[in-house]
Amino acid sequence: MNIKKILIFLFFINSCVLFSQETVYAYARKVVDTMASASMHGRGYVNEGDKIAANYIKNEFEKFGLKNFTENYYQHFNFNINTFPGKIEFKIENYVEHDKNSFTTNNLIFKGNLAKNYLINASSTLWQNVFKIEIFDSTYASKKGLKKFSKKQYLGLSYILIDDRNVKNKTQLEYFKLVKKNYFNSSGKIILVDKLTWSQSQTFQQPTIEILKDSFNIRETKLAGSLEGKNKFIPNYQSQNVIGYVEGSVYPDSFIVFSAHYDHLGQLGEEVYFPGANDNASGCAMLLNLAKHYSLPENKSKYSIAFIAFSAEEVGLLGSKHFTENPLFPLNKIKFVFNMDIMGTGEDGITVVNGTEYKKEFEKLKEINTTHNFIKDVKMRGKAANSDHYYFSEKGVKSFFIYTMGGIKAYHDIYDKAETLPLNEFENLFHLITAFATYLQE
Ligand SMILES: [Zn+2]
Repeated sequence: MNIKKILIFLFFINSCVLFSQETVYAYARKVVDTMASASMHGRGYVNEGDKIAANYIKNEFEKFGLKNFTENYYQHFNFNINTFPGKIEFKIENYVEHDKNSFTTNNLIFKGNLAKNYLINASSTLWQNVFKIEIFDSTYASKKGLKKFSKKQYLGLSYILIDDRNVKNKTQLEYFKLVKKNYFNSSGKIILVDKLTWSQSQTFQQPTIEILKDSFNIRETKLAGSLEGKNKFIPNYQSQNVIGYVEGSVYPDSFIVFSAHYDHLGQLGEEVYFPGANDNASGCAMLLNLAKHYSLPENKSKYSIAFIAFSAEEVGLLGSKHFTENPLFPLNKIKFVFNMDIMGTGEDGITVVNGTEYKKEFEKLKEINTTHNFIKDVKMRGKAANSDHYYFSEKGVKSFFIYTMGGIKAYHDIYDKAETLPLNEFENLFHLITAFATYLQE
């Protein structure tokens, strides 16, 4: 061996040692950093972010030597989705009226940053336009006022602005609630919100613009807005669940399932993407850590263990719905589904959805936690259709969905970033989950 070969050999040995010694936390950090990075475009459907994320998970599964049911570990499915790949710009100006049908804008009074100060609702269809803004404020928040407001003729392009900054009582609040659901005859609406929270939509209608109350201090009344941009509705988009497994040593036909959705909200416009570090790169980090753990011969389990990374959870649990309707192994052979969504904090412990449904398992999980003092608290909650466990339990498969509590509150916004996600209870949670899986195999 020459010196170069020796150096390469030493480097190789060193990397192997590093790989086997990598802590649960260090690997989780790497997964979260990668999945929440700009290269994955928020793991949505603009620039095929979902496919980049799926490919990453597939490669990790391969590295661990997981077995596959299908080619590439992929289970494909299709759905309609409303996306925003192009430029989006919105501003509010004062206007001067010339006659009934013409006006010119002067003075810019609001031009915020997309996703920081305002949002375009996920179900919006956009186009290039300039419009007058009709304000619905507390002076209209009565039976008479509403009647008066709805009689207004919104000729041409008009948006309504629902300004609820001066709500005086409960009755008025009810009127605002009603009006927020309505477009009247307008071309779009603007609402003021306390927090910007984005979502996904499979349909589209007139635009709704949400402005953060803290960013909105307009008192003028002669307002005109302009909105530039366009939605792209994609019918039948093909996405994929990613599914691997390790075979059980005693009961290979029975499964324990670990699951986490890997999709997030994707991109909004050309520049904004939603990193989804806590929701749910953190769950994927747990899923991959578990896959890595159980693929080691010394951790071989009696039951087979399946690892499912679901797509399109944010669109409406579509990946898990598809899986439960087209299972790759019989649902009645699943001993338990353990779904993980939002694993990044935990200073206040975890909540277990379906804890009330499967009391025996819940009590055991709590007992394990108390014995080993892993995390602060294990709270119980009832049924909820809020993550991928749902369709399993609806079909009679025992399932828990756990999420962490406390710490950073960023949710479905641009602040759910890897840099600020603590992962402070991550290792403890990992030990709690593996201890629970051991109990399930007793
Ligand atoms: Zn989620």
